[in-house]
Amino acid sequence: MSMPNQPAARPASHLFYQSRLRRPLASRAEGIYIWDETGRKVIDGSSGAMVVNIGHGNRRVLEAMKRQMDKVTFAYRLHFENEPAEELARRLAGHMPEGMDRVFFVSGGSEAVESCLKLARQWAVAVGQASRYKVISRFPSYHGSTLGALAVTGYDALTAPFLPMMQAMPKIKAPTAYLDRDNLSMEERGLKYADMLEEKILAEGTESVLAFIMEPIGGASTGALTAPDNYYPRIREICDRYGILLIHDEVMSGAGRTGKYLGGDHWNCRPDLIALSKGLGAGYCPLGAMIAPSRLVRPVLDAGGFAHGYTYAGNPLACAAGLAVLDEIENHDLLGNATRAGNLLRRELEGLAERFPFIGDVRGKGLLLAAEFIADRETMAPLPKEMNAYQRVVDIAYERGLIIYSRRTRGGTEGDHFLVCPPMIITPEEIAETVGILESTLAELAAELGLPVNR
Ligand code: PMP
Repeated sequence: MSMPNQPAARPASHLFYQSRLRRPLASRAEGIYIWDETGRKVIDGSSGAMVVNIGHGNRRVLEAMKRQMDKVTFAYRLHFENEPAEELARRLAGHMPEGMDRVFFVSGGSEAVESCLKLARQWAVAVGQASRYKVISRFPSYHGSTLGALAVTGYDALTAPFLPMMQAMPKIKAPTAYLDRDNLSMEERGLKYADMLEEKILAEGTESVLAFIMEPIGGASTGALTAPDNYYPRIREICDRYGILLIHDEVMSGAGRTGKYLGGDHWNCRPDLIALSKGLGAGYCPLGAMIAPSRLVRPVLDAGGFAHGYTYAGNPLACAAGLAVLDEIENHDLLGNATRAGNLLRRELEGLAERFPFIGDVRGKGLLLAAEFIADRETMAPLPKEMNAYQRVVDIAYERGLIIYSRRTRGGTEGDHFLVCPPMIITPEEIAETVGILESTLAELAAELGLPVNR
């Protein structure tokens, strides 16, 4: 990322940096904005990494955290229950599909996914199905950075170095139906992609397959990819047919970002296990959760207990923050606003795609929105890698005062997309400001890379 107005002298850092360049110091944040140390203000158009769903610096959340700090900030879960964790679990269960009434708190998305994988396995052992251990997932996908979560992640650059350290799990293709050039209808494509799961289960051996994990709405690995509507019930049907658990990774799509509390709610999905994080603590505290039904939890507890847990899990301060975040979502109709703002922003992005024909697809739900770059609308061929479009668009936008999030990946091949995912409190005026910056960014990108522009 380029860094204008960067003060020259800063001591050498002892932190790890992914980039060659030092990033600006964040000095203040409020609402959809974040300021660096020079006082420069940028729109946090990706809510960090789709985390700060209720916006920065919310006073009510900060006050609730301070009240909790005055009581107790840590009570070890094997010594004490704590009120915020109890209350948050109760309130969260109210937002889950029926029967999903047990909440296991963790501190992030990878931990939530690990917990789902381990509970699934312990359940299978407890009910006499110890031959089941394979977890089928999709390519591309992202499920986290720990070794178990990586084993089900379909993202070569992230998994390759670690392959000897983990047992990579079977993958099926993510449903990139929008790229298909065949004579099938969207419905037929939905079934085609879902049926890849059944083929994989049969190929792997039905007795060995434990679970299938998917992001109901793809995150950064695919750029807000959704499947044709009939994909979701068909996946449930196939999992039921073979006694396989369906795990929904809602780390990015959950906690309201898409206009419903869970991404899967758009299709009335009934997964067996749900991983949540990001918007749950909304950046105020590290927080994640696995949600499970009692029918899976009870056999594990009866067989001796869940052999899994993290020291910081169920932290009272993190849970108090999570409760206050949930209050914001419920009391200020943030789901409604994510839908309204998302519809408006989506229309604006579609308008930009008219003007800039190198945008080949605009997709997503609510405020989990993405646009994909292409070289050709007919073939949907990607832009050449050398253009580095996914990085340039982020850099130009930043220079113009907007943070967006981008990746060079799509549907198992190369391609550039960027995500626009501002906080759910965004107003129509702030959307206009965001879109104005995006428009001038795309104009500059087009000029720089020699891409076509419609007048
Ligand atoms: N699953 C999904 C879908 C994610 O988007 C992420 C984070 N980008 C994770 C899991 C991992 O979460 P964390 O980085 O909090 O461990």
